[in-house]
Amino acid sequence: MSSPSQNTLKIGVIGFGRFAKFLAKTMVKQGHSIRAASISDETHFCEKWGIEFFRMNRDVIAFLESNNDVILLCIPILSASQVIKSIPFHALKQPVLFADVLSVKEHPKDLLQQVVPQDSDVLCTHPMFGPDSGKDGWKDLTFMFDRVRIRNEVTCSSFLQIFASEGCRMMEMSCEEHDKLAAKSQFLTHAIGRVLSEVEVEPTSIDTQGFQKLIQVKESATRDSFDLFSGLFIHNRFARQQLDNLELALKSVKQQLINRMNEKPDQSINTPNN
Ligand code: NAP
Repeated sequence: MSSPSQNTLKIGVIGFGRFAKFLAKTMVKQGHSIRAASISDETHFCEKWGIEFFRMNRDVIAFLESNNDVILLCIPILSASQVIKSIPFHALKQPVLFADVLSVKEHPKDLLQQVVPQDSDVLCTHPMFGPDSGKDGWKDLTFMFDRVRIRNEVTCSSFLQIFASEGCRMMEMSCEEHDKLAAKSQFLTHAIGRVLSEVEVEPTSIDTQGFQKLIQVKESATRDSFDLFSGLFIHNRFARQQLDNLELALKSVKQQLINRMNEKPDQSINTPNN
C-alpha cells in the first residue's frame, strides 16, 4: 500500500446514498479526492462536488483500478453480504484500506476478513451521527472504530484524522463491544420509536415535555427506512435479547398495575395513621 501524500487521500466510496454524500462533502472540503460507485446515477451530485462517478455494475473494474488509498463501504446493511462478496478484488492494482460505516459491526468485520486480500487492510467504523444530527458540524459527535487488520498506519491515521480533525469524539472499541452497546441504545431507541408509531402517538394540545420527547423518538425512528431497522435486528446478534427484554418489561409493568388495581382499597391508600 503506498502512503498518501501530505495526508490527502484518494477515497473510493461504494454505495453513494444519503449518508455517503453527507460524508463526502466534508472529505472534499478537507481536500481529499473522492470517487464514488453506486447503482443509481449520481452524476449530478458528483459533478457539483468534483467527484468522479462510476456505475457499480458497468464500471466497477475501472473504479477499482483507479488507485484508491481507501475503499469506503456505505452500503445498506441488508445488501452488505451480496455487495462485498461480489467485489472483483483481482482488479485492485495495489493494497488498499477497506473501511465501512455500517451501523452494525460484527457482520461487516466477518465479511471483510473473509474476502479482502491479505495484503489489504480492514478498518470497521460507525459514525454515531447522520445527516440530521451532524448538519451543523461533527464536533463532540462520537466516531467508533475498530482497527481490525492494519499494517499501513499512515493511511489508517490519515483516514481517522478526517473525523478527529472535525472534533469527533474518537472511540476505539471492538466490533463485538459496539454491537452489545448499540443493541441496548440505538436498536432499543428504534424499536421503541416503531412501537410508538404502531400505537399512533400524535401531538396533543396538552403535551408534557416528556411526551414531546417521545414524539421525537417516534419521528426520528420512522424517518429511517424499515430496511435499516431490520438490518439493526438481523445482523446484530445482541438485538434479539433487547427485543425480548422489552416485551417482558411491558408485560411486567402491566401486571404490576393490574395487581395494584386488584388490591383492597385500605391496603392501597397510604394514610398518616397506617
Ligand atoms: P441508503 O440511502 O440506502 O444508501 C445506500 C446506497 O448504497 C444507495 O445509494 C444504494 O443505491 C447503494 N447500493 C445498494 N446496493 C449497492 C450495490 N450493490 N453496489 C453499490 N451501491 C449499492 O443508506 P444510507 O442511509 O446512506 O446508509 C448507508 C450505510 O451507512 C448503512 O449501512 C447505514 O447503516 C450506515 N449509516 C447511516 C447513517 C445515517 O444516518 N444515515 C449513520 C451511520 C451509519 P440505490 O439508491 O441505487 O439503491
